[in-house]
Amino acid sequence: MSYDHDNIFAKILRGEIPCNKVYEDEYALAFHDIAPQAPVHVLIIPKGAYVSFDDFSAQASAEEIAGFYRAAQQVAQSLGVTGSGYRVLANTGAHAHQEVPHYHLHLFAGCDLGPMVKSGLVD
Ligand code: 5GP
Repeated sequence: MSYDHDNIFAKILRGEIPCNKVYEDEYALAFHDIAPQAPVHVLIIPKGAYVSFDDFSAQASAEEIAGFYRAAQQVAQSLGVTGSGYRVLANTGAHAHQEVPHYHLHLFAGCDLGPMVKSGLVD
């Protein structure tokens, strides 16, 4: 899948659409999800043009990958959730219902987050 430079997160990275920013460095930008699904719901996106976890993990440089995950941990630290715990999740492709084709981590926190996936997926 080729990268769509007009996707919503590309526009946020270019400053064409506003976001409620919580963290930024040379590798990553983090901002609050517009439709939060937990008391804390932050999106962490790489600065580079990658469609998904799959694309990023296969194509990004070691520096980009290390920088991105270090940034994600900094986001958790700055949100004050490392003690109480949090969940990071990367929807990838159709079965995971990925909506925005720019790689992103969801960071959920602020309450007991319940089961990892919906029940009933396995007989
Ligand atoms: P996905 O389903 O691709 O893993 O998640 C995309 C997420 O992006 C959704 O949780 C959705 O609420 C969020 N989102 C979509 N458009 C915007 C936007 O313009 N601003 C922000 N902050 N979040 C958005």
